[in-house]
Formats: sequence, structure tokens, C-alpha cells
Amino acid sequence: KSGFISIIGRPNVGKSTFLNRVVGQKIAIMSDKPQTTRNKVQGVVTTNDSQMVFIDTPGINEPRHKLGDFMLRVAKNTFREVDVLLFVAAANERIGKQDRFVLDMLRGIDVPVFLVLNKIDQVHPDELPKIIESYKKEFDFAEAVPISAIQGNNVDNLLAKIAERL
Ligand code: GDP
Ligand code: MG
Repeated sequence: KSGFISIIGRPNVGKSTFLNRVVGQKIAIMSDKPQTTRNKVQGVVTTNDSQMVFIDTPGINEPRHKLGDFMLRVAKNTFREVDVLLFVAAANERIGKQDRFVLDMLRGIDVPVFLVLNKIDQVHPDELPKIIESYKKEFDFAEAVPISAIQGNNVDNLLAKIAERL
């Protein structure tokens, strides 16, 4: 089994950190500043029975001019060509305008979209169901997987769930 997985979400939710975690190398550029990841970065993960090619995307922001609008359409077209879309969100911050903007881009795309709720090391475990529910209200996710990209919690489980879709 093999396939392509796109990692998307607003800036600073931990997309690059997640990619580095699964690939085990510092390939994506991490920063507190948004849009440090200027180009798509690909990382290949090989497990016993699958090969997954991950694609990191720059922070998707609302277009303020025509060029932004065009680039957004290009991004949207690449989403249709992957096998799984990982929508990454930060568990320690409420769903916001930027998260909703990204989710709106994903509507109508016929590819399974996973909610990857990152930074769970920053919230109490009792809070998780409530936070996941708040996202499920906004989008029909194929899976919802809480992780900590920094600590590595539940990342193996996420990879297994991705492999099921390839
Ligand atoms: P991106 O813009 O979505 O690619 O986000 P980055 O991977 O650059 O991460 C943004 C910030 O969040 C950095 O300071 C990371 O160290 C931090 N971060 C990423 N994942 C986690 C996590 O699981 N837990 C915590 N506490 N911080 C994280
Ligand atoms: Mg990044």
C-alpha cells in the first residue's frame, strides 16, 4: 500500500513539527512565525506494509489580493490528488476564523479528511472530547485523532489509521 498525504491547517498548529516527527529528520523548517515553510516539503515514511508520502503546505491564509486567490486555487487542486488530507488543529486554542477558512476549502473534496488535534500535551485529557466535538460540529471528518507532535503521543495510531485508507 502506498499513497500521498497532505498536511494542512492554519499557521502554527504544528504541521512541520508533525512532519518532522513522522519522518524522523529535520526536513521541514519550523518556526513560531507563520509561513516559514515556503515550499511543499515531502517526507516519505515506510512501515511494514505501507509507504506514505507526506506533503507539508505553507500556512494558508485568507487571500488579500488576486495572486493569493490564484495560489489558493492551485493548492485546492493539489488536495484533490492525494489519498488522505490531514487537517491539523491546535487543541490548546479554540477553533477560529483561520481554521474555518481552511475547512471551507476542503468542503466538497472527495478525499477523507482527518482531524489531527495536535498539542494535546497542553490540555487536560478530560477536555479532549469537548474540543473534538467543537470541530466535528464544523466538518464531517473521516477520523479524529488527538496527538502531540512534540512528544510523539498517539502518532503511531494516526499512521495506522492513515494506512487503512491507502
Ligand atoms: P506550522 O506552522 O503548522 O508548521 O507549525 P510548526 O510546526 O512550525 O509549530 C509551531 C509552534 O508550535 C512551534 O513553536 C512548535 O514547537 C509548537 N508545537 C508543535 N507541535 C506541538 C505539540 O505537540 N505540543 C506543543 N506544546 N507545541 C507544539
Ligand atoms: Mg510549517
